[in-house]
Amino acid sequence: MTSNDTKRLRIAIQKSGRLSDESQGLFKKCGMKINLADRRLIAHVANMPIDLMLVRSSDIPGLVMDGVCDLGIVGDNTLEEHALERQLTGENSKYEKISSLNFGACRLSIALPEEVEYEGIQSLDGLRLATTYPRLLNRFASANNIKFEFCKLNGSVEVAPRVGLADGICDLVSTGTTLEANGLKEVEVIYQSKAALIKGEGPLNAVKQQTLDTLLPRIKGVLKARESKYIMLHAPKDRLNEVVALMPGSETPTVLPLAERDDRVAIHMVSTETFFWETMEELKNLGCNSILVMPIEKMMG
Ligand code: ATP
Repeated sequence: MTSNDTKRLRIAIQKSGRLSDESQGLFKKCGMKINLADRRLIAHVANMPIDLMLVRSSDIPGLVMDGVCDLGIVGDNTLEEHALERQLTGENSKYEKISSLNFGACRLSIALPEEVEYEGIQSLDGLRLATTYPRLLNRFASANNIKFEFCKLNGSVEVAPRVGLADGICDLVSTGTTLEANGLKEVEVIYQSKAALIKGEGPLNAVKQQTLDTLLPRIKGVLKARESKYIMLHAPKDRLNEVVALMPGSETPTVLPLAERDDRVAIHMVSTETFFWETMEELKNLGCNSILVMPIEKMMG
């Protein structure tokens, strides 16, 4: 049975793990009322024709590529490993990346025991590496004209060198603390990953396409709002251009008069980039005060 049998858009998300809260949070911010009951495989969305399928991250690419789910949220790392694997076995590996999402950022890196002296990529040639991602690692090896031996592990990869299973590892890293705690050092980043919204190949039926057409602008709006800030401040009137030039990614500011002040104005604007403390300090140095930086919940248009 493919998901095209129904009029409800079926989206696969991770049931529990690093991407699950963010994936559900994104959809809730898009206005979905998700009916979540523990241990259920499918969660119905009460106010939209959408069902969420709660599964393991590693099952999501296959479910989407095989048409069991229309869409899925999965890390680029899992997606690409799965696509490479399917290409080798001749299975369908086609999908469409609808949007990159701004969570789940990590990198796939090769790490070696701290005491090993690292002398560049060529010194990795012939090593035995423990990894959950042999295909991505193999692609890196071919591109650099080296060969690895693999030890495929689906968890606790970082203990492999200590117990004598491998010379090093190739695993996902975000802060590096797990590597450090296991006496390992990161020597090569082979892949950068983020969560992505994917769709199977081919068109959706008209009803599902209509649901996607409603959902997609909302997702984009949530993502944009997350990176944006609403900024309000008071500034000297004669330094307006300098003040506006300091705002990262700002759109046309609103300039408002201040009661009983001819020399100062209030400025309101949306900044679409990260707003740093350093910028606030520079604004203060230009004579601005009452600087407020506020989160935005939703954005459209
Ligand atoms: P499954 O749901 O199949 O058990 P998993 O074991 O990969 O998947 P998680 O450890 O929750 O589950 O990771 C899910 C995804 O989160 C990863 O594939 C990756 O895209 C992303 N991620 C972000 N930061 C990290 C990190 N530090 N370590 C591992 N994954 C990370």
